[in-house]
Amino acid sequence: MKLNLNIEPLSNWLQPTNEKKPLVIAGPCSAETEEQLLATAHLLAKTGKVSALRAGIWKPRTRPGEFEGIGSIGLQWLKRAKEETGLKTATEVATAKHVEEALAAGVDVLWVGARSTANPFTVQEIADALKGADVPVIVKNPVNPDVSLWVGALERINNAGITKLAAIHRGFSSFEKTAFRNEPMWELAIQLKTLCPELPMINDPSHICGNRELISYVSQKALDLDMQGLIIESHIDPSVAWTDAKQQVTPAALSDLIDNLTLRHHDL
Ligand code: PEP
Ligand code: MN
Repeated sequence: MKLNLNIEPLSNWLQPTNEKKPLVIAGPCSAETEEQLLATAHLLAKTGKVSALRAGIWKPRTRPGEFEGIGSIGLQWLKRAKEETGLKTATEVATAKHVEEALAAGVDVLWVGARSTANPFTVQEIADALKGADVPVIVKNPVNPDVSLWVGALERINNAGITKLAAIHRGFSSFEKTAFRNEPMWELAIQLKTLCPELPMINDPSHICGNRELISYVSQKALDLDMQGLIIESHIDPSVAWTDAKQQVTPAALSDLIDNLTLRHHDL
């Protein structure tokens, strides 16, 4: 498999807040209320260790009947969070309409979720809506362990003219039950990195682990593998989070977690 992507370095669009620390994107799994999002954003910004605020406003739920995201109103909350904290903002887009609305609202970084990456029609719809935009896009691995689908999604987005591009490794569904919510299958991330060494890769320990206890280990492992950053779910009060409650960490816990990580080339 050949992979020829035309991509810009990650440092052109997102940088760590401190060169001795990893790049961190953090924020709640879902934007729930304006107060929850703003309070979380302020505490995250205060740590000085976070470069961008993540929050899902359109949530792809595996089964119906659960919270499906707050919807477009959340774009205004993200805008306000950015104005008040200076953090860049990131949200998931899964349809052309999401892309149009997120671009119109000035969201800084868009991501393609794992369920979308698994569907080439969806990815193509997103790519078509991105044509002519100069927005960074990060593409999660598909839910199933298939590197070709991940590669295909990156190619479709890149073919639409998006050069600020990165991959997110969030682990893969597997039939076997293990300690992880989604098996990291590190070799698949390594395979993608080998196919395209200049493609920035960000690790998502929250969705790999599914519980907060394991996050520091997976984060350190990702950094040891030279991944360029981490996207970690953080909520002002994880115990009452509307989605992914078990894996979210408070901003204070996130700050400690980052303090305890070491970059492989730290002392070089
Ligand atoms: C999320 O980031 O909250 C999310 C739904 O992730 P994924 O697409 O990796 O399941
Ligand atoms: Mn989540």
